[in-house]
Amino acid sequence: MQNSEPIWRLVDEKAQPAIELSDRVWGMPELAYAETRSAAEHTQYLEREGFRVTQNLAGIPTAMMGEAGEGGPVIAILGEFDALPGLSNEAGVAEPRPIPGDGNGHGCGHNLLGAGSLLAATALKEWLKAEGIQARVRYYGCPAEEGGAAKGFMARAGLFDDVDVAISWHPSAFAGVNEPLSLANTRIDFTFTGRASHAAASPHLGRSALDAVELMSVGVNYLREHIPQESRIHYAYLDAGGVAPNVVQARAKVRYLIRAADVTALNALVPRVRDIAQGAALMTGTRVEARVISAVSNLLGNSVLERTMQDNLDRLGPPPFDAEDRRIAARFQATLSEEEIASAFRKMGLPRDDSPLTQRVVPLESRRAPMIGSTDVGDVSWVVPTVQARGATHAIGTPLHSWQATAQGKLPYAHKGMVHVAKVMAGTAVDLLRRPELIAAAKAEHRERSGGRYVCPLPEDATPPIGMSLAV
Ligand SMILES: [Zn+2]
Repeated sequence: MQNSEPIWRLVDEKAQPAIELSDRVWGMPELAYAETRSAAEHTQYLEREGFRVTQNLAGIPTAMMGEAGEGGPVIAILGEFDALPGLSNEAGVAEPRPIPGDGNGHGCGHNLLGAGSLLAATALKEWLKAEGIQARVRYYGCPAEEGGAAKGFMARAGLFDDVDVAISWHPSAFAGVNEPLSLANTRIDFTFTGRASHAAASPHLGRSALDAVELMSVGVNYLREHIPQESRIHYAYLDAGGVAPNVVQARAKVRYLIRAADVTALNALVPRVRDIAQGAALMTGTRVEARVISAVSNLLGNSVLERTMQDNLDRLGPPPFDAEDRRIAARFQATLSEEEIASAFRKMGLPRDDSPLTQRVVPLESRRAPMIGSTDVGDVSWVVPTVQARGATHAIGTPLHSWQATAQGKLPYAHKGMVHVAKVMAGTAVDLLRRPELIAAAKAEHRERSGGRYVCPLPEDATPPIGMSLAV
């Protein structure tokens, strides 16, 4: 890695407090919409750095924004800081060793995601000041990426409407531009209500909500044959009606997660699932209520921004991992299967090599075979041209949402990958601000690809599911 650009040196100068912030957030893993302490840490950091801070965005207490600079284009850098349930682990230990307590852990590396984005925004703020450039940089602290779709609620509230370009990243094992491919999705809770009764003495008086959930799932499983190839439907029982088999279950609740290639396809699929729920209620003499918990759009790519980011990566080179980093990463790789490691290279379209940490930048044109999930960055990408980086923070093959990902989140190589990706993001922003024609081209491409129209997948009456269990 070389450091020829002043913006990259500014990132290095500002790195230490961001590393400490990441480690502190790692140590206080909080779930979606409950990230009170983590959000407070981010707010304090912004205030210390002199950003103008707005809190409680879109009515979400753990969402905040910090702005610096005056006039000119607005560059948004997005961060996250929510953790996952059941993924606590001791730091740096290459074996499953949960920490006694609530069981939460940063198994998706969002401690790094938030701090790395803050670092990029802070360096950019310093660069604007030093160069006397008319522009504004904003850090958006976005909670509840894991199942909460906070960015969708924030986009619906118009919080990105005056932004020119949005930049973000996600922890990974590789350094590169994130492929703009994700599925639109929605989470809907179906609650069935029947009538309790003695299951042996008076079964004819009972109406089973549990039967209704089971029949709904049978119906949806038959539906699968007749939906578009890219669509996915998953479900989880939130309430199976209790533990007594001799009581007809009067209430049962199932959460459906429905995914489709885009919002149009999602809006065509969701009514079919709702109809099946109604059918199951009809068959069992129960009632059903549906509540939309969250919904996100698919990602909209932007080739102008992707090329600009790749150019930064190519100039910067891979993160500066050393022999000690590789020694520790090898211990984590030893806990993974050969298939996990091989498929990680395959997904990036890269030839297999023996280093447990990446030694190269993924080329933009590599033939990737991504496994696609969903992200609420999708909603931002329909409002404003958006690009995301991959930061190399984990041993190759590490699955996200695993104890291995949690355990690596405070290691020196995770910090190096975070600082590296902050340079990529800040450098991309600098290139855009130096060459305003790139921003104009990115916006023209965005208008053409989006049709200038963001259709929020959230129903108008949906509110952020604050205080609800969103275990994903
Ligand atoms: Zn994540």
